[in-house]
Amino acid sequence: MNYEDFENYVLPTYERQKVNFVKGNNATLWDDTGKEYIDFSAGVAVCSIGHGNKILAKDIAHQASKIIHVSNNYYIEPQGECAKHLVKLSGYDMKCFFCNSGTEANEGAIKIARKHGELKGDQKRYKIITLVNSFHGRTITALKATGQTEKHNYFGPFPEGFIYAKDIDEVPSLLDESTIAVMIELIQGEGGMETLNKKKVQNLAELLKKREILLIVDEVQTGIYRTGHFLASHAYGITPDIITLAKGLGGGIPIGVVMTRLKNIFSFGDHGSTFGGNYLSTTAANTTLVILNRYAQSGLMKEIQDYFDNSLQIFASKYPTVFIKCVGIKMMQGLRVTDEKSLTHIVNTSIKMGVLIIKSGKNTLRFLPPLTITKEEIDKGFSRLSFVLDEYISENACQ
Ligand code: PLP
Repeated sequence: MNYEDFENYVLPTYERQKVNFVKGNNATLWDDTGKEYIDFSAGVAVCSIGHGNKILAKDIAHQASKIIHVSNNYYIEPQGECAKHLVKLSGYDMKCFFCNSGTEANEGAIKIARKHGELKGDQKRYKIITLVNSFHGRTITALKATGQTEKHNYFGPFPEGFIYAKDIDEVPSLLDESTIAVMIELIQGEGGMETLNKKKVQNLAELLKKREILLIVDEVQTGIYRTGHFLASHAYGITPDIITLAKGLGGGIPIGVVMTRLKNIFSFGDHGSTFGGNYLSTTAANTTLVILNRYAQSGLMKEIQDYFDNSLQIFASKYPTVFIKCVGIKMMQGLRVTDEKSLTHIVNTSIKMGVLIIKSGKNTLRFLPPLTITKEEIDKGFSRLSFVLDEYISENACQ
């Protein structure tokens, strides 16, 4: 790998680690020197069925050899099948729109809310409340919906009508007659893994229903069994009006979806996406969903999630001076650190030790392993992480 060439030709939007992965098998990756890594991040919650899955590879190759793409001017069979899968697994009475990423799914959700606000009632309603520290994407409107306002620097002017509540408790006081929607992540994946309180979310959902304000749940990171349920909304016992999905759905192939109970909101031409829902991405999503659904039905998914959860708790409890608390649910968890400076050190040393792990916000170590990770891979990952932490503690004790 020519790192210099890479840097000469690719814009530096990411602070990249110098490693060149060449193959993977489930939650294990190898670089071009043959070094092995345990993947506790799954490409930020994307590789839900791990790396190198042979069934997914075969189905993608088979589909690619027949047909990859036609425009959405035609019926695309696997797209229809994927929508049916998603609606059935969600248990909600909804329809789907397909796009290619999480940010695009959120753009779609915002357009649905805005059109609903334009058509319903005597007065135009357009305001959308989101939470401080939320993350909804990088396109201009999804970025404005993102409550991490430092990310807005340089990119204005933005579309109007986004208000940030400091937490879920503040949302009701911000609702007014021009509010059309509240948009939340149930676990703030990029915002320190802040996990919303179930009862408070249920109370908010009830209040919004009474006031005919839409509830949009951004499940781009929490969706597709990450929390042990197909959707985190299921774990919270709520029925959103709009749900967005992406990341884990295609097993690594880009895909995004907006699901909504407002089945008649869009007319022809209101929204679209050239690539959205093509043969390749929806075939990948269908295969991923079948694999994960079978895995969930077999009971093995729960067994592994409990095993991972337990291993994480044991690991965290060994280092009370480094970790304050555990946040998140099942395969989407974080460890809050006492000292922000330790975080970069732990992430960078872990990769040297052969574990891929990422940050969330400024003070949280984030765990998003492939859902199919094995017990052996979990043990190996935590034993390497223990080595990293033991060394960190002994180095700090010497200073
Ligand atoms: N929403 C949430 C909750 C996310 O975590 C992300 C990405 O991390 C996005 C939206 C944006 O997704 P994408 O990077 O696919 O556009």
